[in-house]
Amino acid sequence: MSDLIRLENLTVTYERHPAVHHISGSFAAGSLTAIAGPNGAGKSTLLKAIVGELRPAGGSIDRGALTRDDFGYLPQAADIVRRFPISVADTVMLGAWKNAGAFGQFSRKDIERAREALAVVGLSGFERRHIGSLSSGQFQRVLFARLLLQDARVILLDEPFTAIDQRTTRDLLDLVLRWNSEGRTVIAVLHDFEQVRACFPETLLLARELVSWGRTQDVMSPANLIKARAMAERWDDEAEECLPAGGEESESGLVKREPAE
Ligand code: ADP
Ligand code: MG
Repeated sequence: MSDLIRLENLTVTYERHPAVHHISGSFAAGSLTAIAGPNGAGKSTLLKAIVGELRPAGGSIDRGALTRDDFGYLPQAADIVRRFPISVADTVMLGAWKNAGAFGQFSRKDIERAREALAVVGLSGFERRHIGSLSSGQFQRVLFARLLLQDARVILLDEPFTAIDQRTTRDLLDLVLRWNSEGRTVIAVLHDFEQVRACFPETLLLARELVSWGRTQDVMSPANLIKARAMAERWDDEAEECLPAGGEESESGLVKREPAE
């Protein structure tokens, strides 16, 4: 398989505080990769960098001929605002925005595809519902329908099954596997190691630095998992030292963080 996305000594920082350091390696075209690692390991940061939401502070990301439209990205649930007054149908239609006309009008074909996408995720008849009225599982199904409509070559999912019921998890995991069998490249941040071992051939194990990246059976070894945990404990211990002298550069200007799980 040929390389689709290559990371070269990638470092990503927030206000100069590195969240991900010196990552090198590549995602092959058509690969299915899990990103695993402790809380605060930089998993979400790495996804945002790959999709182009965050710029590298060091190193580079080579996306070859891929453009922004080739990426379908599902952020972590905590980052998605659901109070926005928008219907299920309109949320799904956002997946077709690149086909929309100058005044945001969609073709009959796209509207039909949106209907089909909702049927695939088991939400036929939910079109007029306000997204705020859905359960978290139903809302995740809507976001997967939007990804279906978007028809992206590369799909990035950030903890897609966290706090989602088992039935929805099973259905949406099937969809992820189907996307991959269609030749799409899928990269998913996951915390369920059993799921990673059962369904994801490749794993990138992260603890701010790369612990290991390759075949899941090699990467998810007890020794590597212990190493990742030890690295996480070390950055907790060293947290004080990372603060700038005088503390004038507080977190106040930054996005508020959700508390760790
Ligand atoms: P993970 O997804 O593995 O839990 P994150 O990528 O969310 O980790 O975070 C990695 C580190 O970067 C953490 O120390 C986190 O507090 C910090 N961080 C994440 N997002 C921001 C932000 N918007 N501003 C400042 N620091 C952030
Ligand atoms: Mg995260």
